[in-house]
Amino acid sequence: MSDLASPAAPGHRAVIIGGGLAAMLTAHVLSKVTDVLVIERDTLPTVPKARTGLPQARHTHVLWSGGADAIEALLPGTAKELDSAGARRIPLTTGMVALSPQGWYRRWPESHYAITCSRDLLDWVIRQRVLREAGTRITVMERTSVVGLTGSSSTVTGVATRREDTGEEDTLLADLVIDASGRASRTPQWLAALGVQASAVREVDSGLVYASRIYQAPDGLPEDWPIINVQANPRGNGPGQGGVITPLEGGRWLVTLHGTHGGQPTKEADEFQHFARKLRHPIIGELISKATPVSPVSVTHMTANRRHFYEKAALPDNLLTIGDSVASYNPTYGHGMSVIAQGAVILRNTIQRHGWNSPGLARHAQKAIAKPVNTAWTFATGTDVFYPGATGTGPTASERLAAAFVDRLSYTATGSGPTARALTDVMTLRKGPERLAWPDVLIRALVGPVKPPLDQPPLTAKERAAVDYN
Ligand SMILES: Cc1cc2nc3c(=O)[nH]c(=O)nc-3n(C[C@H](O)[C@H](O)[C@H](O)COP(=O)(O)OP(=O)(O)OC[C@H]3O[C@@H](n4cnc5c(N)ncnc54)[C@H](O)[C@@H]3O)c2cc1C
Repeated sequence: MSDLASPAAPGHRAVIIGGGLAAMLTAHVLSKVTDVLVIERDTLPTVPKARTGLPQARHTHVLWSGGADAIEALLPGTAKELDSAGARRIPLTTGMVALSPQGWYRRWPESHYAITCSRDLLDWVIRQRVLREAGTRITVMERTSVVGLTGSSSTVTGVATRREDTGEEDTLLADLVIDASGRASRTPQWLAALGVQASAVREVDSGLVYASRIYQAPDGLPEDWPIINVQANPRGNGPGQGGVITPLEGGRWLVTLHGTHGGQPTKEADEFQHFARKLRHPIIGELISKATPVSPVSVTHMTANRRHFYEKAALPDNLLTIGDSVASYNPTYGHGMSVIAQGAVILRNTIQRHGWNSPGLARHAQKAIAKPVNTAWTFATGTDVFYPGATGTGPTASERLAAAFVDRLSYTATGSGPTARALTDVMTLRKGPERLAWPDVLIRALVGPVKPPLDQPPLTAKERAAVDYN
């Protein structure tokens, strides 16, 4: 056993599996009450840089205000640090040119916001901040994989580890083990090895493929250049295809194109612009023809909605799962990181309510963090069930009814500011889906849009002139 094998004193160490965003925000929360050991397979870069364990960082990552507010509540001043590092704070819907299945949204005055930058930068800013603030309370053990849980079907006592370079194996004890190892979490297998009955899992997979490429944006763009988004239509005649241009630090654009079964983009650079021009509107293809590609095309199939219902399972004591290890979502909705941040706030509140090391703490926290998971899950699967083959059975009657209502709201939002604001309340995860059943929303949905539909993208005259877009 290593010198880390025993906690300094009983009740004083948590072990976190993984060193990504969920791990860092959770480590921050736990460092207020205990020592924390973060075990990460990769080497974590000391500058904003790509790493093997975060392949999704090559693709668009938008942080909605629901998540950004939660990070700010945990780590005040992070938004400012991101801003100094080159991230953009984009007011919504002012800073978004978006084509919904029901038509172009208008650019209403700010009610919410999004933060855009590369995922490598976002993670780096948060990691530096968390580790700086925690001092010696958080230890990061890099190039080490967790390969199992120790304990019994009733209580987890620690983790089994293996060094990536030497293969050396070890057992590390902990009062609380947190799985933050992401989509590829091995917790189901590790629990089976302890004799724990499997938790229910649901998957809704539209076969979505993401293809992303970085461009140097054209010179002379206005500083408040918007996000450009052509959304897929889940209830159209063919596959769902869409795309987004997101401003990145360094005057760059991250361009992500996506398509479901039968309409997926490829990693061929020659086909990228062509695919973009064939979307429901060619604006993305037209704009990138004026920009300079500076990276190859990266492709991922890692996009299915998958949820483990751990909050309903009889998990052993002292085990908590968070982040993508609990649930991952179709990334076009951009909810994963916000759910993680809100989950970290909920964990903090749960510890405050029940007390650190109180009996059943992990179980209380697992149930509590299911709330933001539910919202994102309902949002994503409520749409994705309509793609052919996404589920074995197709949409249920209640899913069809809910979708018809959301379509009506989305149509109303194309010409009603208050309705657009209500939809954005939910999209940014600042409010739960119940917001859409408030009387003001229902009445506006009955009335429909009060302004006429837009027949072209709502770029301003200044924006059009900057890119010579007619
Ligand atoms: C293509 C794509 C685009 C996305 N876009 C958005 C977006 O726009 N907005 C948004 O909010 N979310 C988005 N997401 C979701 C977001 O990427 C995830 O929600 C988030 O990264 C999950 O964080 P995590 O810390 O739970 O897991 P991860 O980020 O996957 O981190 C897990 C970490 O654990 C480490 N690890 C794994 N196994 C072990 C082990 N056994 N031992 C030790 N270490 C281990 C890995 O190396 C990694 O560092 C997107 C996802 C994808 C796939």
